[in-house]
Amino acid sequence: MPYSVVSDHPECDGFAVIKTSDGKLIGCHRTEKQAQSQLAAINASEYDERSLPENYRPASSKDVPDGRNCANCDHYDDGYCSLWKANVKGSYYCNKWSPREARADREKRVDRALEILKNLLKP
Ligand code: SF4
Repeated sequence: MPYSVVSDHPECDGFAVIKTSDGKLIGCHRTEKQAQSQLAAINASEYDERSLPENYRPASSKDVPDGRNCANCDHYDDGYCSLWKANVKGSYYCNKWSPREARADREKRVDRALEILKNLLKP
């Protein structure tokens, strides 16, 4: 890839978007998510790369089930889709939508497993 994200650029304390060939600093960000967003934007504008699937569309489209949109998808976090690694609109949707409860269920299972481990390790 012509551009990449690194965490050890000498001119950036956080996460740097650089030109891979010569290490030129393009942007410096506090979080990796922000850097990945810039990277996706650069790729989209310079290379017309579409990281989102063709079926990414307004949630108001006829074929989108009621109540589903990016904003209530398990992969959505503050305008960013972790699945496609791209900025998305909360009012849009793609066929990989996953209910938020899935994340909550996973967190509950982890909590339960940690509780069991704690009980097993009690003297
Ligand atoms: S996976 Fe979820 S957040 Fe990502 S584009 Fe599809 S519906 Fe939106």
